[in-house]
Amino acid sequence: MPKYIGDSKVPVMEFCEYCWEVLNDDGTCPTVGCVHNDLLSLNESETEPTKGE
Ligand SMILES: [Zn+2]
Repeated sequence: MPKYIGDSKVPVMEFCEYCWEVLNDDGTCPTVGCVHNDLLSLNESETEPTKGE
């Protein structure tokens, strides 16, 4: 059993959880109109919790 997980030598490759494209350096999804980007912009600009619908 490994004592720890992750060597931290491997570059962090992040994939979009919606379309599985490799994310851009700034963490955005390269796919235009992807939900991932919508969530990002929501986190950036809107701080108020809107729970409409
Ligand atoms: Zn995406």
